[in-house]
Amino acid sequence: MQQKPRTLLVKNAQVLVTMDETRREIRDGGLFIEGNRIVSVGPTSDLPQQADEVLDLSGHLVIPGLVNTHHHMYQSLTRAVPAAQNAELFGWLTSLYKIWANLTPEMIEVSTLTAMAELLLSGCTTSSDHLYIYPNGARLDDSIVSAQQIGMRFHAARGSMSVGQKDGGLPPDSVVEKEDAILKDTQRLIETYNDDGRYAMLRVVVAPCSPFSVSRELMRDSAVLAREYGVSMHTHLAENVNDVTYSREKFGMSPAEYAEDLGWVGPDVWHAHCVQLDRAGIELFGRTGTGVAHCPCSNMRLASGIAPIRAMRDAGVPVGIGVDGSASNDGAQMVAEVRQALLLQRVGFGPDAMSAREALEIATLGGAKVLGRDDIGALAPGMAADFVSFDLSQHGFAGALHDPVAALVLCAPSQISTSVIDGKVVVRHGQLTTVDLGPIVERHNRLAGQLISMVS
Ligand SMILES: [Zn+2]
Repeated sequence: MQQKPRTLLVKNAQVLVTMDETRREIRDGGLFIEGNRIVSVGPTSDLPQQADEVLDLSGHLVIPGLVNTHHHMYQSLTRAVPAAQNAELFGWLTSLYKIWANLTPEMIEVSTLTAMAELLLSGCTTSSDHLYIYPNGARLDDSIVSAQQIGMRFHAARGSMSVGQKDGGLPPDSVVEKEDAILKDTQRLIETYNDDGRYAMLRVVVAPCSPFSVSRELMRDSAVLAREYGVSMHTHLAENVNDVTYSREKFGMSPAEYAEDLGWVGPDVWHAHCVQLDRAGIELFGRTGTGVAHCPCSNMRLASGIAPIRAMRDAGVPVGIGVDGSASNDGAQMVAEVRQALLLQRVGFGPDAMSAREALEIATLGGAKVLGRDDIGALAPGMAADFVSFDLSQHGFAGALHDPVAALVLCAPSQISTSVIDGKVVVRHGQLTTVDLGPIVERHNRLAGQLISMVS
């Protein structure tokens, strides 16, 4: 006889944001969950009153878990590095590569835990991570193990760099890999870990680092491999004006034309940044359903510019939010990133360029679409049981309770109180239930100290 799935009743939420087809926001709302999926959503009085576990979220705002579409979690070992504090992209990368060349498997594992804890406590339930540097025996497996330990839904992107300085690329020759080894390891990871089923907790993504660190052939072969297995593809594109100049000089094409030429457009592809995507590129991405990970803090930190998100959304480009690596956005706080997305569009394109609700939609439904998923990003029957709650009695929300949804984005970035991922409580009363964070942070700081001291 099949065992009945465990049930979870969420009740009395002051406001529950569904992000369903009609964007319902339910007062005194709740959810009824069986196993890892939502069975019903509505006012508390309409839901079953009994369950194996009951979460009373009176005085809380409940939203679908936020989706982070771009990160380099290992970089949380190198935040605020003095030599890279005031540089633009290419100079910033050059000063950091030599530090990252000393990364170890243990450093990848611990920094991934730290980065995921920061994301989780700021409302993120699904994240991608783009790991593209594998020195000293490090493997993507080292970050996967951390995602499984902490309980985060994870899209692990197997990054790569193959064109070193001697071949005209940006990274030092010591950190680039051979292209056949990259493809072989990527195939191993897909076959070992990728789950293409509904409610998958782990997917593998094919993700050469950028057009200026891999060859044309590797871009093309990666796309062929990804499509053979039906997995997503990810890279950096058109991040700043130097990136565009490099593309024109080296390939004789704009970044968008280069992407199209190599098969890097389509609903199974998403590109990070696209700050300098031109009009033709925006139309191409809209037409082909090619996604964009918008990373406003990183774009400001490196003075890359203001990504034309308003124009992209109007053209039908799928857009999600990304915190980007912690070396170019030293604070990977998801709510803060959503808020910056709104503020930065307004600086660029006027006060009506983005509303609080649109920013939240981009960070939930938008991120889900960019990652190629229709089972996360909204609270509706049949969706994955991924949601977070914010305690509206926190002083940062005082005076804004007439509209708690807008308050979440417009007020100072808040930490969550509850996080449920795949039907499991991962954060309760603001504390992670799956790992003991204190010792992890201590270990992280010790490893970060070791890493920095190796080059100074
Ligand atoms: Zn990045």
